[in-house]
Amino acid sequence: MNEFGNQRHSDDEMYFWLCQMARQVDTAILIIDPKKGYTINFANHIFTRLTEYSELDLMGNTLSTLYGPLTDLLNEQAIQESIENGLTFKTSSFHYRKDGSAFWNEVSNLPVRNLNGELQYSVLIMKDVTESINVESLIELERDVYFSLENGESIDEVLGNICSNVETTFGKKCHCSIVIHNKSNHSVKYYGEFADELITIDKNLHILDVREERQHLVKKPVIVRDIQSSNLSKKYKQLIDKFNLQSLWSQPILNTEGEVIGLFTMYFEQEAEPQEVDFKFLNRIAPIVTLALKYFEQKNAIRLLAYQDVSTGLNNLEQFKNTMNALIEHGCEGYLYIIEPGEYQKIVDIYGRQGGDEILRQLASRLQNVRTFEDSILARYTNSSIIVASRLGMKEIKISQQEREGILFEPYFIDNKEVYVTLKVGTSGFCETITLNEAIRQADTALSSAIKATGTVVKRFEEGLIESVEREMNVLAHIPHGLKNAEFFPMLQPKVNIETGKIKSFEALARWISADLGFVSPAQFIPVAENTGNIYKIDRDIFRKVLQWQKQRLETGFKMYQVSVNISPSHFYNPSFVEGSIKLIEQYGIDPQYIKFEITESIELENVMRAKRIINELNEYGIATSIDDFGVGYSSLSYLQQLPFEEIKIDKSFVDNLADPRMNAVIKTIIQLSNDLNMESVAEGIETEEQHLELKRLGCDIGQGYYYYKPMKLEDIDQLLEDQKLNI
Ligand code: C2E
Ligand code: CA
Ligand code: CA
Repeated sequence: MNEFGNQRHSDDEMYFWLCQMARQVDTAILIIDPKKGYTINFANHIFTRLTEYSELDLMGNTLSTLYGPLTDLLNEQAIQESIENGLTFKTSSFHYRKDGSAFWNEVSNLPVRNLNGELQYSVLIMKDVTESINVESLIELERDVYFSLENGESIDEVLGNICSNVETTFGKKCHCSIVIHNKSNHSVKYYGEFADELITIDKNLHILDVREERQHLVKKPVIVRDIQSSNLSKKYKQLIDKFNLQSLWSQPILNTEGEVIGLFTMYFEQEAEPQEVDFKFLNRIAPIVTLALKYFEQKNAIRLLAYQDVSTGLNNLEQFKNTMNALIEHGCEGYLYIIEPGEYQKIVDIYGRQGGDEILRQLASRLQNVRTFEDSILARYTNSSIIVASRLGMKEIKISQQEREGILFEPYFIDNKEVYVTLKVGTSGFCETITLNEAIRQADTALSSAIKATGTVVKRFEEGLIESVEREMNVLAHIPHGLKNAEFFPMLQPKVNIETGKIKSFEALARWISADLGFVSPAQFIPVAENTGNIYKIDRDIFRKVLQWQKQRLETGFKMYQVSVNISPSHFYNPSFVEGSIKLIEQYGIDPQYIKFEITESIELENVMRAKRIINELNEYGIATSIDDFGVGYSSLSYLQQLPFEEIKIDKSFVDNLADPRMNAVIKTIIQLSNDLNMESVAEGIETEEQHLELKRLGCDIGQGYYYYKPMKLEDIDQLLEDQKLNI
């Protein structure tokens, strides 16, 4: 035999030996001849059992016998190249059995060379690793899901990722979808490659699928081998045709209570029959979705607690600041508005905390419905206020008349009862050069100033405001000293009979000349005293000095006049107000008919009953009452008839606008109403003859204002009355 013959002989021996070995082991083995176009020379019985191909089927064929629609051909090419070059490798291929079912085939190559080092054969050792690949990918998936959720990825991203993960595990021709039906808001959400297509298919179909048809199939996957001939073909036609779908496997997704809340579906572009491992896979994938949803829900709840105001459902300040800081960092500029219902405290007194929360919630939703506020950011700021950030300043905000009225004049509802509120708004600008905290502080300062004004007011922050806050603090600090040193005193302003021009009575107006601060206007110290609970001290001080003056007149034998004393609401509702007042009057020995209390009109809602009781008690004793600043609030007309006031004072702001036909009509109505209710009508702040004449024409009883007299010192009043007596 020649050399070649010898070689041939030893190669045959090796081949024989390889086959022998392959027959004895219990793994699937193929022997391939790399020189003859990768043809299969030998397959052991384990291999034929695994693939259901007989030896005859395989002989002379190549590995491509095992390919199927989902086989990754690039990977197969790499396998061929490795075989050709005699390289060892290990890889997993998606291969098919004779019956068309697929499996993950772990292929390792063992190149066999002859004595001369020439590549003779490839021994391919194969193993069905479908189950472990599935398990691995599921474990990986599960880990991914938690990792993503932990890192703040949205549930949308996470479920989308689950779909694409499964698609890669199963090969290119598998498409995945998750449909979740949210029972609480009836929304249906779609994830995965077909999300867009599924949305265009009737939404109700999915809800139905999920809620009814599948309800009884709990836990069992639905397998449709041939979609075309199934009853789904019509419903899903659009999808089936577009992607040439053949089969689908669908697994219900249950919530932790075991109810069906969604579907996990895999669509195949070829007929696909699930194996036992696939069923296992389906059974394990659904709970991952359930867990992801549950986990997300919990994380969300925790997040909400951290960033939401639980009682109103609005964002909290923390969240507001986070959002705003990010925006400001990106150069965003705009305006902050801190908005507080003027009646917040009263509402809490009557309806409790929930009442206050409810008002803020309703206010926020009204604001969010205003078109210009659409892209604004809103949060609860304090107990009593909300904060809004908008790109627009006051002047640019265009609110239609209708929207404005909706916010301001429509009643709010608490426990089905109508509540009217006025809004106090403080605003300031924000930009990159001013910190958010600074901007908030400025809006807050502006709000403090808005709170002091009557009605609905918007105050812009100005540097002067800080000074004014400082001044207020200063005022507040000096009030006790002022009271102790008798720095407060009343001035009297006559109230005249409009018809005759004769002085009928007086109103006492507090004045303060402080040793340290000089003259302080009541417009400044009254609100400070009201806000800090000191007002009753000033009221009583003034009252006492008025009684003192009257006592003097009584003792001198002068004519007595009724004097109105202003009483702040908080003082008026104080339980010892009536008793304390009566005690004082008796102490000075003054006939109660010479006293009247003016109460600022802010009586609302349940307060009506309390107010009524107090007014009645005063009336019984002979003290008259007057409702001050009438018309500034919104609610009074309807309560007026229930309250036995003797006098109604029309606010100066109405008198100022007498020329406006609408205002004129309102004043006319108020005067008529007071006539009907046997109340005296008083117009305050009359400055001109025209106003005087017009009010006279409208039948107003009494006038007060600079047109007649300014507020005067007590001794000047005595003098005035003396002079008038002489003139008569
Ligand atoms: P008010 O009760 O509405 O008093 C009328 C205010 O209008 C007074 O301001 C009075 O001086 C002013 N006034 C009267 N006629 C005219 C006019 O023709 N033109 C203009 N422009 N103003 C006129 P004043 O004295 O500055 O008092 C301001 C507010 O302070 C009062 O408004 C009242 O609410 C409150 N106030 C004054 N004294 C007391 C007090 O002793 N106790 C309480 N609780 N509040 C008081
Ligand atoms: Ca008054
Ligand atoms: Ca007034």
